Amino acid sequence: MAYFPYDSYRKGQVELIESIKSCLADHQNMVIEATSGFGKTVSVLSATLEVAEKFNLSILYLCRTKREIDRVVEEAKKIQAKKYFTFSFLVSKADLCFLYSNRKLDAHAISILCKYSISNDLCNYWNNCQLLEPNIISTLVSKTDNLSSYLLTTKAHHICAYEVAKRSLFSSKLIISTYSSMLQDPFFSSVDLSICDPSKTILILDEAHNLYDIISGLQSFEIDEEDIEDSIAEAYRLGLIDLARKIESLRPLYNRICYLVDKISAHDRVIVRSELNKYSLNEIALLQNLLAKYVKSTVGTSFLSTPYVIGNLAKIYVFINYLFLYLQCENILMLVEGKHGRKSLVFINVDPSDEIHAFLNKFRSFIMMSATVGSPRIYHQILKIDPTNTRFYYVEPQNLEQNVLVVVDKGITTKYKQRSQQMFDKIARRIYTISESLPLNIGVFFSSYAMLSSTMPIFCSYNTHKPIFKEDPNMTLNEANKLCEQYKSHKSSGAVLFGVQGGRFSEGEDYQDGEMRAVIIVGLALPPPTKRLFLRMGYIKRTFSQNAFLVAMLDPAIKKAVQAAGRITRNSLPSVVFLLDSRFGSNLIIEMLPIWMKRTLIFGNLDESSFIQVLNNSFPIFMSNLNR
Ligand code: SF4
Repeated sequence: MAYFPYDSYRKGQVELIESIKSCLADHQNMVIEATSGFGKTVSVLSATLEVAEKFNLSILYLCRTKREIDRVVEEAKKIQAKKYFTFSFLVSKADLCFLYSNRKLDAHAISILCKYSISNDLCNYWNNCQLLEPNIISTLVSKTDNLSSYLLTTKAHHICAYEVAKRSLFSSKLIISTYSSMLQDPFFSSVDLSICDPSKTILILDEAHNLYDIISGLQSFEIDEEDIEDSIAEAYRLGLIDLARKIESLRPLYNRICYLVDKISAHDRVIVRSELNKYSLNEIALLQNLLAKYVKSTVGTSFLSTPYVIGNLAKIYVFINYLFLYLQCENILMLVEGKHGRKSLVFINVDPSDEIHAFLNKFRSFIMMSATVGSPRIYHQILKIDPTNTRFYYVEPQNLEQNVLVVVDKGITTKYKQRSQQMFDKIARRIYTISESLPLNIGVFFSSYAMLSSTMPIFCSYNTHKPIFKEDPNMTLNEANKLCEQYKSHKSSGAVLFGVQGGRFSEGEDYQDGEMRAVIIVGLALPPPTKRLFLRMGYIKRTFSQNAFLVAMLDPAIKKAVQAAGRITRNSLPSVVFLLDSRFGSNLIIEMLPIWMKRTLIFGNLDESSFIQVLNNSFPIFMSNLNR
């Protein structure tokens, strides 16, 4: 246990660390489920560092969000204080570039502009990096506390944050990154062998229950008629007349594909292929090659003083790439969606399991961890994980049974068909009753922003004395950090944080002792019944013979609720989870809950007259510890 930084172990940590070490030594993989607060990150890191040292390996640690990188850096620094090792992190240029990141350009455009700036000697941040000694580079990164302080330090030294982080990767034992930074490139070609050779690297996937949806989201693409018109205009503006005419001739093909996909069949590749053949597949391939020339570099123009990055034509290039992918890959499907009166053609990867499988198998071993892995049967089959070389490890939570109560409110439903003003009033009243009765920090996590927006104003009209905080989907990282810190600072008197299940405050955010002692889950976050969802469900049914509703709708919704509920598991004092939706009481859903929730679950009516009585009767230890 050379790398474990704490004086004592939580129950179960030694066993987990030993198990990881023996699995990795045998080139095996692991899927680990443990509740928030168990110490998964530090256990996994200290075990893998020991194995990495012994077999001369590297570690690549992927988080869901940039905010979660800070948490891993925090643990890495504690470990470093016990036994030194080098670590580094990398997020995209769009986040780290001092020259262009405030221009709201996408990662592709920033990357092109960066290349241009370097080759034309226009970036002093990059020039200054050339003067840095390698040991200064690794010290700069390894000594950093979090991403924000790293950005401040590099900016103060006037050096490129991306370049410094990238260079430090070569000498790092541990690289911390996000899924999207690492996997944005379709089919994962962005894992650079020169940075870390996957066959000599242990891959750690944090919050791995999100992997499937993250990859599916990254491999989706949509285009509409306006995009085609914009690209034609862009080509004419740049004097690329031949190219403009070629794209003009794509218009009828685009409309025909939309018609076929929308009106005839979303997954009949034969009719789409015959349509493309009629147009000429060769012509399309030629256009793709022509576009490739322009979209990978900047263009000098007479009407702009700075170099121009082709944006609209790039979209046509990606569209053609997806058309070819659609013809080749069963899991890439098309649909037509209408938003704000505009129809768009959407490509989605309904089943990225082959790509995930290929990616995972590049690595010497992988470790997936989450508080909500769910059913190993679904997990293994859907992610195509080989059970013969992957160990599923469940950490039995300690003390939660005495310390937690989970109450299902049978008097509330948020079923779509039964939503009404009366229902929102009732929910707001329930939240108010709970928040006024418990002088604690409370987190309220809704099934959607729409539910949150309908309920919160009613709650506010009751004039609660508690400070209220609200998650906003458009918050920057700094704004989110600040809001969360302010909320946590009220732990002695109590505050209410409103957010959504699956949002940044209900997953990946750690609330230490007392920082959130009650969680209210409002509604079951079933995905809305969209064409995309139905396409995916149809695919699951055809391909995996699984219950598509369970896999594509219920399982993700339960995981979001369980993740949100898990925010209270770090408390040393008793805590409560309220499930405001009677559907949580169905046998099917109870069966899918983790053991710690199942064992502590009761049913009750949480209206004003019976709320306190329910808690007094079922959880006196909680009530007697309210003011501590
Ligand atoms: S070298 Fe760094 S600061 Fe300069 S353009 Fe590239 S990413 Fe931006």
